[in-house]
Amino acid sequence: ASMKPVNLSLLLKEAYKISSVAIPESTTLKGDFTPEPLTVQGDATQLQQILINLLKNAHDACGESALVSVSLKSFKADRSFREQHPQTIASHFALLQVRDSGCGIPTEDVGKIFEPFYTTKAAGEGTGLGLSMVYGAVQQHNGIIEVESTPGDTCFNIYLPLIEKAE
Ligand code: ADP
Ligand code: MG
Repeated sequence: ASMKPVNLSLLLKEAYKISSVAIPESTTLKGDFTPEPLTVQGDATQLQQILINLLKNAHDACGESALVSVSLKSFKADRSFREQHPQTIASHFALLQVRDSGCGIPTEDVGKIFEPFYTTKAAGEGTGLGLSMVYGAVQQHNGIIEVESTPGDTCFNIYLPLIEKAE
């Protein structure tokens, strides 16, 4: 992957627009992108693929009258974040959240969803490769991925370290 400084705000807004075309009108899709430039050292294609894959899954997980929302904002590591992620040295992140009102992921399955070829979808509808790609891309960017899920509320949080500004 070729890593260079990218403006995540612009890049993900673009990926969001592309994805939204494929999502039917029965799904309420909301996007909230901070206007501040969030710059990360990254691979533009991989970064866009992260959002495209998460949005596809969010949409797949929802039946009728679904709600899918995307938010991108800056995040400053606090004490509780540092305690949960002691391996992280960065302190400023871009936080991408993709939330859906779909079926949710059973607690006993959460550990498997990032494995390649793990899918609960019918043959021909899922390859089981989306989240393994997302996981790999997040690792490549020294990021962190978390998932919180209950039936009716699933949220993927992706933290990507920002290029620190000289102060
Ligand atoms: P695929 O979408 O091809 O099945 P993924 O790797 O993208 O493969 O996802 C793996 C599995 O994780 C899905 O089949 C599904 O069981 C579960 N999953 C992923 N995202 C969600 C979500 N937003 N809500 C519920 N389950 C999900
Ligand atoms: Mg998928």
